Amino acid sequence: MPRFSPPSSVFVSSPWCRSLVGLVCAGALTACAQQPAEPAAPQPSLSDELVMATAWMQTSGEYAALSHQAFNLARLSLDRALAADSGERQPAIIVDVDETVLDNSPYQAWLIASGRHYESDTWNQWVEQASAQPMPGARDFLDYAASRGVEIFYVTNRRDGETDATLANLQRVGFPDADVEHFLPRTDASDKTERRQRVAASNWVVLLMGDNLGDFSAGFDRETAQARRAAVDAQANAFGARYIVLPNPAYGAWEGAIYGNDFSLDDAEKARARRDHLDAWSGPTTP
Ligand SMILES: [Mg+2]
Repeated sequence: MPRFSPPSSVFVSSPWCRSLVGLVCAGALTACAQQPAEPAAPQPSLSDELVMATAWMQTSGEYAALSHQAFNLARLSLDRALAADSGERQPAIIVDVDETVLDNSPYQAWLIASGRHYESDTWNQWVEQASAQPMPGARDFLDYAASRGVEIFYVTNRRDGETDATLANLQRVGFPDADVEHFLPRTDASDKTERRQRVAASNWVVLLMGDNLGDFSAGFDRETAQARRAAVDAQANAFGARYIVLPNPAYGAWEGAIYGNDFSLDDAEKARARRDHLDAWSGPTTP
């Protein structure tokens, strides 16, 4: 699970600040009465900015449709590959877990509701509940792959210590191959290359599924958003074939690239970085 945006801290609209405004006005009653203070401009709240993405993920038919589309495409790609295979090695697929086969949006919604930001402690408590639901279409596709004799490997950046709870969750929703032999959590590096290589040493990896470019290749781990986009364009033909991507507008390495991969930035700096990365129209020529 990635880092999440911290909540807004104390803004002008808070009771604390309203009290302060009241004290200031009490010292200058006449001025306040004659010239009410302009309402302060709303300050950016990173927690609030997560609302739209989470609402989309939890309510839109479009999000569910994109998930189905990804798994339908994966099935087509799998069928095509199996039809062409010489059959020398056991076929396998590699899937990421979070926002690929399991939906953690309730944790995200809790962050918003509670004004908290991502912390390993609360995340771990969510993981321990093992109550995440499957992404739309995931169960049918994974069952189909298993029925074709394909092994499923779960390569995730959930931590080693979260293995039991995560396997319990994967088993609860009925996914095949939800066992320690097919589960490769993060032990030290978030880079999944070595874990993918371990799978590839014993299996023919037909396709990979994920919501983050790092789920496919470390070659996408670039420093800037622009470089990430260029790396994707350079491998355009792999997407929808060997690489199947699920949408995630809430978090991911794309967000880190906006911050120069420095998550220690404070809220205001992150908000500024987000806006600085927008490519805006110059506006109407007539007012
Ligand atoms: Mg993921």
